[in-house]
Amino acid sequence: MSTTLIKNADWAIVWDASGKRHVYRKGIDIVFENDAITHVGPGFKGTADATVDGLGLMVMPGLVDIHSHLGHEPAYRGIREEHGVANMYMSSLYERSQAFDVSDPELRRACLEVALCEVLKSGVTTVCDISPVYDGWTDIVGKSGIRGFMAPGFASARWKLTNDHSLDFDWDEARGRKGLEAALALVDGLAKHPSEMLSGVISPMQIENCSDDLLRDSLDAATERNIPFTLHIAQGVLEHLEMVKRHGTTPIRHAYDIGILGPTTVIGHAILPDTHSWIRWHTKDDIRLLAESGSSVAHCPTPFARYGILMESFGDYVRAGINMGIGTDTTPHNMLEEIRKAGTFARITSRDINNVSTGMLFHAATAAGAKALMREDLGKLTPGAKADIVLVDLHQPDMMPARDPLRSLVFHAADRAVKDVYIAGRKIVADGEVTTLDHKGAGE
Ligand SMILES: [Zn+2]
Repeated sequence: MSTTLIKNADWAIVWDASGKRHVYRKGIDIVFENDAITHVGPGFKGTADATVDGLGLMVMPGLVDIHSHLGHEPAYRGIREEHGVANMYMSSLYERSQAFDVSDPELRRACLEVALCEVLKSGVTTVCDISPVYDGWTDIVGKSGIRGFMAPGFASARWKLTNDHSLDFDWDEARGRKGLEAALALVDGLAKHPSEMLSGVISPMQIENCSDDLLRDSLDAATERNIPFTLHIAQGVLEHLEMVKRHGTTPIRHAYDIGILGPTTVIGHAILPDTHSWIRWHTKDDIRLLAESGSSVAHCPTPFARYGILMESFGDYVRAGINMGIGTDTTPHNMLEEIRKAGTFARITSRDINNVSTGMLFHAATAAGAKALMREDLGKLTPGAKADIVLVDLHQPDMMPARDPLRSLVFHAADRAVKDVYIAGRKIVADGEVTTLDHKGAGE
C-alpha cells in the first residue's frame, strides 16, 4: 500500500455528491491510496508515504476526453487547418480520407505517441481513442499510463468520390461483419492487458457507412459487455442529405428509429441536427430525441470550426437534457483549448454570454464524460473515485491573479499551467513533461 497526501492545497475542485456538481474548496488535503482517492477535506490526521505541498496549487480531477483519433490526426498537420471542399459544404472529411493514406503502422505509432503526449499535457487522464486496429496500438496506450478506452472502428461501407460534389459509397457488408468480429476480439482481450488501464468501446464508424443490422448488432454486443457504444452521427451536411435520400429522415431520427440511441450511446458529434442553420430541416426533434433517449454527445469544436461550422449551441443541448462531453477530434489534442472553444463558440452562436458557464464546460469535460463512458468513479475528486488528479500551478504567470483559478486555466493559461498529472495514483506528467513517452522523439 502506498499513500500520497497533497497537503493544504490552496484551491481544489471537489465533487459535491448531493448537488451532483463540482465546487471550489480552499485549504484542504487530498489523499490517495494506490489507485483510489481516500480522503478529501481539511485537517487530514493520518500518515502518508509521500507528501506534496499544496501551497500554490489548484488540485482538480483529471479531464475525460471522450472522442479522439490519436493514431492519425498529427499526420494531417499543415493540411487540415485550411482544407475544405466548398462543394461539400466546406467539409474536408470525405476528400481527405480518399486523398491521404495514413494507414502505415509506423506512422500511426508515431502519431499516437505525439497525440498521447498532447492530451496528457493538457490534463487528460482518460481518453477514448477511435481507430482501426494496428500493431502497437494497445501497447503504446498501455505504456503511456493513461486510462485508455480503446474503440476499434469498423464499417460496412467506405466513402467514394469521383468528383468534388457528390458522395458515393462502396458497400461491403462482409467487411463490416469482419470488422465487428475483430473489434470484439480486441475489446475482449483488454481486461488481460498488463497495464490494467485499458477497456473497450464498440465503435461502428459512421451512421451512413453502416448497415442498420450491423449498427443494431454492435449495440447489442456493447450492451452484453456493459461497455459504451459510439459512432459519428450528424457531422456533415452531405451525410444529412444522404440519409434523407435513403430514409426521408435526419441521421439522428434514423438512429432513433432503428433503436441505437440510449444511455450507453455516445454520439460524435451531433453538430448538425435538424435545427441547425446549415440544415434547417422541417422537423425540430433531434435535440429532444437525443435528450429523451439519454444519449451522450461528444462535442469537438475545433475541426468543425475550421470549416466554419459551429454547434448551435452547447448550452442549449445541456439545458435540453443531453449528457454533453468533450473530445479532441484533431491535433492539437489540447483538451483545455477545446473547453475554451466550446464555451466561446456557444456564446457566439447564441449571441448570449449566459449560454454557457465555465463550470458547465468543466462538468462536461469531467463528470459528464465519465458518465458517457459508464464510469461514475472518474472525473471527480471524492473518496472512492480513481486517483486521476491534475495539479495546476497557480503561480504560472497566465494564472495570476487566481481569483477564479478555473477561469484562469480555461481562458488564459491552458496547458501551460498543468504541472503534474496523476493517473491511478501514478505520476504520469511531472513538471509539465510526460514521464512515460518521448514527445520530442516521437515525431522524428
Ligand atoms: Zn471523430
